[in-house]
Amino acid sequence: MKAQPTASHFIDGTWVEDAAGRAFDVVFPATGEVIARLHEATPAVIDRALAAAERAQRDWARLRPVERGRVLRRAADLIRARNADLSVLEVLDTGKPIQETEVADWPSGADALEYFAGLAPTVTGETVPLGADFAYSIREPLGVCVGIGAWNYPSQIACWKAAPALAMGNAMVFKPSEVTPLGALQLAAILTEAGAPPGLFNVVQGFGGVGAALVSDPRTAKVSLTGSVPTGRKVYAAAAEGIRHVTMELGGKSPLIVFEDADIDSAVGAAMLGNFYSSGQICSNGTRVFVHRAVKARFLEALKVRAEAIRLGDPLDPGTQMGPLVSAAQVAKVRAHVDLALREGARLVTGGAGEGMFVPPTVFAEVTDAMTLSREEVFGPVMAVLDFDDEAEVIARANATEYGLAAGVFTADLARAHRVVAQLQAGTCWINAYNLTPVESSFGGVKASGVGRENGRAAIEHYTQLKSVYVGMGPVDAPY
Ligand code: NAD
Repeated sequence: MKAQPTASHFIDGTWVEDAAGRAFDVVFPATGEVIARLHEATPAVIDRALAAAERAQRDWARLRPVERGRVLRRAADLIRARNADLSVLEVLDTGKPIQETEVADWPSGADALEYFAGLAPTVTGETVPLGADFAYSIREPLGVCVGIGAWNYPSQIACWKAAPALAMGNAMVFKPSEVTPLGALQLAAILTEAGAPPGLFNVVQGFGGVGAALVSDPRTAKVSLTGSVPTGRKVYAAAAEGIRHVTMELGGKSPLIVFEDADIDSAVGAAMLGNFYSSGQICSNGTRVFVHRAVKARFLEALKVRAEAIRLGDPLDPGTQMGPLVSAAQVAKVRAHVDLALREGARLVTGGAGEGMFVPPTVFAEVTDAMTLSREEVFGPVMAVLDFDDEAEVIARANATEYGLAAGVFTADLARAHRVVAQLQAGTCWINAYNLTPVESSFGGVKASGVGRENGRAAIEHYTQLKSVYVGMGPVDAPY
């Protein structure tokens, strides 16, 4: 599969180019090689995409849900059949290692298409008995939905938004991150091949301005954004102007709490997965690892040995466990955090600044709640280990953040696990596990980490609206 797509955009069932749009390069982060050159969507391209979506949505919504589901199922099958090629493209776009993209990126996208394909026919309304009269409810699609993606899981994000939106009878215009624009175009082509009508799922490229134009267009009924909190604030505000529905999947600074009775090997493994997978560029990462003082030495010792054994290198090599970060800008941001943590007095256990586009797995210990490393999202392979002594204290400290995306608890005492989870302010929690996000279970944040949910049955509510129908069965009894 060539990295350079046939054209920059995919609209109304076909590839679309408009060279009048600002050109931008797509770079393979591992080598700096320019692998594709695209053009940002012009106002004419944006208009064409929204018009096509509006047209396609009307007929699509009239199909039986089982027919809509069939298209999504076929798309899931095509993705699985082509996973090897698609996963290479994902490596080129993101720099993530092939051993990850082959199992995590497109496969989880295919899962979402398959799951919502099956769920679509199960979505029904209710009948409300009212004596002689009755009412019933219908779950209707919203119309044209706009999806805006982040760069860390570009193809998964596109699928996670497209699958519930289309299954429920909506159409979508999707704008990928300008940093990783390639995967979503493949999804559009695959959906079309699977039988999606022209215009049902459109991809337009560009920077924030293109996203902003989509969000404020009167044809847009809903916006689903995956991105940072500052962007979330802007998009949420712009959507509010038109009273549009929103789903906001934003950032986090999630706590992972390791109690003294935890299986330390599992806790170390989870902390590594929750800080180093995808070079740490995952929104739900457990970047504040609270370790009970009684097991801290054991935890850090095992962690250091295992972190230092991680193989960094060419992400296309199947033996590589960690690739580069996604962009030079992200490398600079992560290195600035490493410098600041050192200056603020955190103890470097392993790792550090790294070289070129690579930052090694990095662990800081003796991190305090006041340090920047405990408060700001780094979005790189930098783990902060904090000490704690008791349960009430660690819960209060875990919650002392504006974020609330995720949280994890490691303990052998299941009563404690449930008691602690009940008090954690986070939309997604794990007990003796971390960062597993199967499509069957809903995912999303509380507080500044977002509103709405992706995945699971909960996603249905965020791509439909309820219509209540009152049925009068007798004469109208008016007092006039
Ligand atoms: P970002 O906020 O910089 O950009 C996200 C998307 O929004 C991009 O496509 C960008 O072009 C677009 N955008 C920017 N300004 C806009 C505007 N004014 N109007 C409309 N669209 C606009 O985020 P990023 O750097 O691409 O991704 C990293 C962030 O995403 C991190 O904060 C991470 O935590 C978060 N994230 C969250 C989840 C989740 O599910 N909660 C998943 C992945 C990433």
